[in-house]
Amino acid sequence: MKTFDSYEVWWVTGAQLLYGGDAVVAVDSHSKEMVEGLNNSGNLPVKVVYKGTANSSKEVLEVMKAANNDQRCVGVITWMHTFSPAKMWIHGLQQLRKPLLHFHTQYNAEIPWNDIDMDFMNLNQSAHGDREFGHICARMRLRRKVVVGHWTDPEAQKHIAVWQRVAAAWADAQDMLILRFGDQMNNVAVTDGDKVEAEQRLGYHVDYTPVSELMEHYKRVADADVDALVATYFKEYDHAPELEDKAGEGYQKVWNSAKAELALRSILTEKGAKGFTTNFDDLGTNDINDPKFVGFDQIPGLASQRLMAEGYGFGAEGDWKSAALYRTVWFMSQGLPKGCSFLEDYTLNFNGKESSILQSHMLEVCPLIAAERPRLEVHFLGIGIRKSPTARLVFTSKPDNGITATVVDMGNRFRLIVNDVKCIEPKPLPKLPVASALWIPMPDFETGAGAWILAGGTHHSCFSYDLTPEYWEDYAEIAGIEMLHINKDTTIAGFKNEMRWNEVYYMLNKSLQ
Ligand code: MN
Repeated sequence: MKTFDSYEVWWVTGAQLLYGGDAVVAVDSHSKEMVEGLNNSGNLPVKVVYKGTANSSKEVLEVMKAANNDQRCVGVITWMHTFSPAKMWIHGLQQLRKPLLHFHTQYNAEIPWNDIDMDFMNLNQSAHGDREFGHICARMRLRRKVVVGHWTDPEAQKHIAVWQRVAAAWADAQDMLILRFGDQMNNVAVTDGDKVEAEQRLGYHVDYTPVSELMEHYKRVADADVDALVATYFKEYDHAPELEDKAGEGYQKVWNSAKAELALRSILTEKGAKGFTTNFDDLGTNDINDPKFVGFDQIPGLASQRLMAEGYGFGAEGDWKSAALYRTVWFMSQGLPKGCSFLEDYTLNFNGKESSILQSHMLEVCPLIAAERPRLEVHFLGIGIRKSPTARLVFTSKPDNGITATVVDMGNRFRLIVNDVKCIEPKPLPKLPVASALWIPMPDFETGAGAWILAGGTHHSCFSYDLTPEYWEDYAEIAGIEMLHINKDTTIAGFKNEMRWNEVYYMLNKSLQ
């Protein structure tokens, strides 16, 4: 898995040669000091690399083309130290294919009241240089993030950090491969969509992968490796002592689950895939009593849970959009403390002002969101082609605020739907032994669920405790897709209007389709 360490963002300072050699030298040394300061702040996950001062159209073009071609570069930060006539940015910005952040900052913090003179003014011109640059970006309809603040201010640095995480996740998505074992669950609309458009717009590629090919990996898994993985399970997770009884059915189910995990891991690694989907109707040979049977004896739910925790994208029932989005959520959240998961709207809990939605899945909930040490259990699961006792991790999730997101295909565009949610303490579920969360969608159950449904949101979504709306705003901006954010201020009437206006906007704005 690529981490932030293998990426960098470039810093390009804008200036011009009008002010003479001394100014050029000062701009350069100030820029270096600022970039160093940002890198040493401890607030930025991705290294900033100073790429020099651009003083002409030719220099801008060169650095933007270089940014496009550099695999490590995930985005460009621009800042205008002096006045930088913006026509010189046109050709370079026309070429730039990487995310852009315009940092409106200034080398010095406060005005040096007693010493300020015209030389100072000629050098420290961000106040109007950044407006000139902003104008050309606006005129060119460029998608970008504008961060305003002093470069030493942790608040400004945090906005840059969010953008860096999103830009790195965006780069990660551009060569993302999602494997689909089996197809979409038959007849389901919301989790399907245009995979060609997804590749053009969102970057990732989705390949059908026959389950028979996965089974070739399953056959090759060595028993000793399975034994070792089972030992890891017993070490990492709470479990009933009888599960370790090698003669028992529970042990056999756990053992087979571990074998499935190793098979999945093997094919994902071999193909360089970053995510996968499963389908409970396609698990290998259909007849488990056939002497030539090669297949999973149960849904590989435990494997999906563990692979998600490791950063593999996952979508159930062929949901490739959620698989890709989960990988992006996980990637953006690397190093953040509270966790993320693929989840499904399971069942409603009408309870006045505390009305909420139980979030779960048959099995596949990521243990990163667990409030306590997960418990490894085996229970009968009567869904799909293989009705069988099935291993899974069982836990409840932390009571805390979070955010959930989904992407749906509206036919003429992708729509990102984001909902702030509040996870609350659930009651025990003694007869529903699955991992789960319980949340109230913002601004309240009635409005939140109503808006989500009006927007055409999925029953699957990608949840995170660590991300904030700003991440999704940056993501939608970079991708150039619609974003609907359901939050504390949402009203149904306002939300409906927003959707109507967006409909017209995306119909007229062909460049965003
Ligand atoms: Mn589902």
